[in-house]
Amino acid sequence: MAQTASIVLRQQWGAAAPKSKETLKCSVKKVVIHHTALQRCKDENECHSRLLSIQRTHMREKDFDDIGYNFLVGADGTVYEGRGWGVVGAHAKGHNHDSVGIAFMGNFTVDTPSAEAMSSVKRLLQSGVCDDYLDAKFTVFGHRDLGQTECPGGKLYAALPQLKGCP
Ligand SMILES: [Zn+2]
Repeated sequence: MAQTASIVLRQQWGAAAPKSKETLKCSVKKVVIHHTALQRCKDENECHSRLLSIQRTHMREKDFDDIGYNFLVGADGTVYEGRGWGVVGAHAKGHNHDSVGIAFMGNFTVDTPSAEAMSSVKRLLQSGVCDDYLDAKFTVFGHRDLGQTECPGGKLYAALPQLKGCP
């Protein structure tokens, strides 16, 4: 049984309310992995302000309803709630209605994802399966598999097969 991943909730990082929110109709089969392509954050304060700035960019410049991702994960393995489970995201055009979008915070063209972040995401995915938000036979994609982008960076992309294993 997977240990439930502890998640820093929206209200804990001070997220603004979404402009609107669309619920997913059933459990999803796709996991789409992204990177923020920004510098990694080092402590709680820095990560919270990074999250707020990502949310601002997504809502003001991109005109999304909310931060685009369902979840984000820091280098220390802390998982942050974005839109959360069961909510349609705005992260992979054409795939938002049947996937969950998870962003590793950092730039993985340069950096290698930490063991802590990898195992937190594995736990998160297992908890999604247990709670019926994610199909047990889910497939993990990198954003670049689904669109014209470098995302999630070569080093994270190379590590994606590990996300199917046990936490
Ligand atoms: Zn992406």
